Amino acid sequence: MRRRTFLSAPVLAAAPLAPTRPSSRPELAARIRRLHLRHTWTTVMSSSEYRDTFFVEYSRDGITGTGEGAPIIRYKESAETNRRAVESIRPWLLEQNPEAFVPLMHQVFGRIEGQFAAKAALDIALLDWNAQKLGVPLWRLFGLDPAAAPLTTFSIGIDRAEVIRQKVREAEEFPVLKIKVGLDNDEEVIAAVRSVTKKPLRVDANEGFKSKEEAVEKINWLEKQGVEFIEQPLPAANLEDMNWIRKRVHIPVIADEACLHPPDVPRLAPYFDGVNVKVDKCGGLLEAKRMIEIARSLGLKVMLGCMVSSSVAITAAAHLSPLVDYADLDGHLLIANDPYEGVRVEKGKLILPDRPGLGLRPRTA
Ligand code: MG
Repeated sequence: MRRRTFLSAPVLAAAPLAPTRPSSRPELAARIRRLHLRHTWTTVMSSSEYRDTFFVEYSRDGITGTGEGAPIIRYKESAETNRRAVESIRPWLLEQNPEAFVPLMHQVFGRIEGQFAAKAALDIALLDWNAQKLGVPLWRLFGLDPAAAPLTTFSIGIDRAEVIRQKVREAEEFPVLKIKVGLDNDEEVIAAVRSVTKKPLRVDANEGFKSKEEAVEKINWLEKQGVEFIEQPLPAANLEDMNWIRKRVHIPVIADEACLHPPDVPRLAPYFDGVNVKVDKCGGLLEAKRMIEIARSLGLKVMLGCMVSSSVAITAAAHLSPLVDYADLDGHLLIANDPYEGVRVEKGKLILPDRPGLGLRPRTA
């Protein structure tokens, strides 16, 4: 049947909207957006002025669900490979019932290899669509209490001392800061931060320490500088040195680069005090929630992290944040051209929208 004939067919026009089997013609938009950073962003891994992230818009029954994933180069993903992955399943996906989003996402995982940011964008768009359809905020669909949302840290990128001091001053409203360490000038970076503020700090070494001895020395020095915990001191594959380190330090050590998917959580439990769950790494909120629950069952601390992305991905993660101990959900605050507004941050606390779905609105100003 040609499209025009199909659209004008009386049987479609007269079809009632069944609550369990949406009937209007669905649409799927897959697009790439370039997000410009407020400051050039430097970690031990990269330095850049923009990030391209991947967006999905799923429309059906007059409702559009929006999702976003931030591709991670290390896992052989780009916004373009994300886009191609979603395009490869488009005809099949548009035939599926979005209301049964749990088995639908299981099937998406079976049909797309890798490309977890693409899966995350789809998962978020489907959840946004469903929660809007039910007229409830996403946190309500998960049965969570928005008042339990934690504080988020605000990340200070590696830079010259005077720029670091300026960034710390700009972050005045945040009660806890996250600092990237793992380079040769850690002492200088921390001294620059401490010259401006006494706030508690959390640090992320991004696998940057060169030996277990250096890790212990640095971590114990960082503890004296008011650091609450450290992420990923050694390369992800090096687990054998982690217990040696943990016997010699007092602050919690959290796995990030080592922890991607649900099966990683029990594997890492003997070597770390907690895990950093990221929606873009694991492929969506359903997988992230599963990781959080596994971590809880093993007595691990849980942190919810993010990549640089817009308010879409950050708001999505924020809807799960009442489940975790620590949030590091500031990726949208680091960009200059966020197309949406969603979760707000007040004095560091995540304020979840009470509008249906993710609760996104186009940014007006
Ligand atoms: Mg990290």
